[in-house]
Amino acid sequence: MRPEILIIYTGGTIGMKTDSETGALVPFDFSGIYEEFPSLRRLNVELEVRTLGPIDSSNVTPERWEELAGVIRDNYERYDGFVVLHGTDTMSYTASALSFLIENLAKPVVFTGSQIPIGVLRTDGRENLITAIEIAAARDAAGRPRVPEVSLYFQNRLFRANRTSKRSAEALNAFRSYNYPPLAEVGVNIAYNTAAILPAPSPSEPLRVGGPMCREVMILKLFPGMDPCLLERMLSYEKLCGVVLETFGSGNAPTTEWFLELIGRTIARGVHVLNVTQCGGGAVSMELYETGLRLQRIGVLCGYDLTTEAAVTKLMYVLGKNLPRERTLDLLRRSIRGEFTA
Ligand code: ASP
Repeated sequence: MRPEILIIYTGGTIGMKTDSETGALVPFDFSGIYEEFPSLRRLNVELEVRTLGPIDSSNVTPERWEELAGVIRDNYERYDGFVVLHGTDTMSYTASALSFLIENLAKPVVFTGSQIPIGVLRTDGRENLITAIEIAAARDAAGRPRVPEVSLYFQNRLFRANRTSKRSAEALNAFRSYNYPPLAEVGVNIAYNTAAILPAPSPSEPLRVGGPMCREVMILKLFPGMDPCLLERMLSYEKLCGVVLETFGSGNAPTTEWFLELIGRTIARGVHVLNVTQCGGGAVSMELYETGLRLQRIGVLCGYDLTTEAAVTKLMYVLGKNLPRERTLDLLRRSIRGEFTA
């Protein structure tokens, strides 16, 4: 039986081609994928395409993440794997969000896109698409999916989705996973790093799709010279539920009294504050310096080596559950989808 893969096209550069008459970039109709790329027939898979109101990914919203997760849930039994085509600009946010929204995933969900439109001769989209399909369809010797988690494939490397960030607006290898090794590296062959891939959940654990996500969260990137009044205004929003605090280096923030008092007061109000580093690589370690220790003492949560994308979508997912405080803290303090290493 050939594996059946559902391609979900959501928009972005990958879905563009040059109009032969005008020379302008126009959306590509992915439902005609075999006509456009007859070579896809040579892959040993059955493909079906679903289009989800294509958008530029800068316009993505949590509602759309929930919709996308719903499409996967509704088609979960029918297909062996899923390839999500997405604009690169916010792909790491969407892919991270999906990793949290979908619980007990036992089949591959592979995100990909391209920096150059698929209809342009020098496109990176064709290779990204074909390899993403191969990975979504890949089985081990026992017939089990090789990558039963939400992943992101781009330019020869497959990453755990919630470990990625877009790091170049120009390079074809636009994505990085600074703190976690690739799940697969692609050369002549696809070399899977089996030890790094999440094990599939037990068959008795049913797939669950969460949501709605909490919208009342924000990312606060520290910089020298922050204005106390401005910060006070931002944090005093009465519906605020969570803050991703992007700190310096290994989780450090100013030790000025006004700052610590303001963050402390915000936490005392019930707002969850999660500390991640502004550095791409490395982790928060709040016990290293006085500047981190002071944050820990006022109740700031350690985000270890979480990306900002994973931190904010995890907050949205967990806070959306409206759980009692201790259960919320338990989910925030531990890695629930392999999103950080403590
Ligand atoms: N603006 C596009 C998007 O993210 C860029 C891309 O797909 O590469 O939708």
